Amino acid sequence: MTRTVIRGGLVVTAAEEMHADVLIEGERVVALAAFGTSAAEGWTADREIDARGLYVIPGGVDAHTHMELPFGGTSASDTFETGTRAAAWGGTTTIVDFAVQSVGAALREGLDAWHEKAQGNCAVDYGFHMILADVNESSLKEMDLLVAEGVTSFKLFMAYPGVFYSDDGRILRAMQRGADNGGLIMMHAENGIAIDVLVEQALAEGKTDPRYHGEVRRELLEAEATHRAIKLAQVAGSPLYVVHVSAASAVAELAAARDQGLPVFGETCPQYLFLSTDNLAEPGFEGAKYVCSTPLRPKEHQAALWRGLRTNDLQVVSTDHCPFCFVGQKDLGRGDFSKIPNGLPGVENRMDLLHQAVVDGHITRRRWIEIACATPARMFGLYPRKGTIAPGSDADIVLYDPTATQTISADTHHMNVDYSAYEGKEITGKVRTVLSRGTVVVDGGTYHGRPGHGRFQPRATCQYLDR
Ligand SMILES: [Zn+2]
Repeated sequence: MTRTVIRGGLVVTAAEEMHADVLIEGERVVALAAFGTSAAEGWTADREIDARGLYVIPGGVDAHTHMELPFGGTSASDTFETGTRAAAWGGTTTIVDFAVQSVGAALREGLDAWHEKAQGNCAVDYGFHMILADVNESSLKEMDLLVAEGVTSFKLFMAYPGVFYSDDGRILRAMQRGADNGGLIMMHAENGIAIDVLVEQALAEGKTDPRYHGEVRRELLEAEATHRAIKLAQVAGSPLYVVHVSAASAVAELAAARDQGLPVFGETCPQYLFLSTDNLAEPGFEGAKYVCSTPLRPKEHQAALWRGLRTNDLQVVSTDHCPFCFVGQKDLGRGDFSKIPNGLPGVENRMDLLHQAVVDGHITRRRWIEIACATPARMFGLYPRKGTIAPGSDADIVLYDPTATQTISADTHHMNVDYSAYEGKEITGKVRTVLSRGTVVVDGGTYHGRPGHGRFQPRATCQYLDR
């Protein structure tokens, strides 16, 4: 078994910061010891990694990606192979992607199809949530089976009528089932029925540019759906995880529920923290690059999201990585914003953008690791295998240089998409070395990984409720 020692770095976890050496045997961390002590100095190893001047952090856990997702007549441009390679480059060593149930089909069919896409192709470890597009007696029963085999979270949509949409009755049934079998319900909270009316009216008035995507998907309709989802969860006696929260008023709904002691949780994404409706309004068709749902909001909302992350009214930052090329895919919506495929690339940028937030003073170093590694792992039953550096945890470790600088660009990123949503943004901090289960997959600007190294990770049920 290969023994590796990482020496002299500042180990940062959600709980601690310590100058410590880390001993890895095979795929796992076996010990930490204070830097310079005889315990650490006595360790012999096959490989020594010098981490002086660097942070030693857990690999990122991105709990919301959509590799190869079919959407709006096309498919997300990153495959599991290209998307997980890009994740590794960006310091993310676990993704949880979404298998999709088609209407009229079994959950099993969708899950098998996604296993087939991912198996043998991933550079880093992966798990699956299940999208419930058709809640009925048999899919409700199937939920129990999926929980038992490690697919322990289920996403429902209050948006996209005719595609993924579930009405309140179906949502309630799924929540009741989740309350019984431990499956965590994840909600896309936007009132899609009302939004579709506003879309139709906007198009009839000749409002076809990308920026109208942000205008019709009104903040109030995110807040309303968030409120309704919370109440339905309360009735069902189930916890609730709201995905991609973008509106200040939706954060307020979560905060109010949490103040009542309800087990409701919120995720936001880098695009809502760093981008705004100003981007959607960029001239020509440029705004299409920033079309995603929930939509980007006016800049003023960012402060509420950062505050929510500091006060733990929001617990997780995931990417909702769902890239579509500007040329050939986003194009489908020229002359009709409602036909622009919804989604942004970001799986490679999340750890860096959130480090920039540390530099900018929005969050602390430990909170960075908490919202990007530890809590997503806990929320989705992967802790402490993932999300921390401790004896027994997988050796998913990133050596991060906090003083290096970089400029984000499509010219240098590794995602399979022809633009960057953060083109030209200067970042302080950069990934130096990435280990996935003890194997170096990225080091000093060179990729050493391979498709098939990444393994499917069966997950326990939500571990965040125990806190
Ligand atoms: Zn999504």
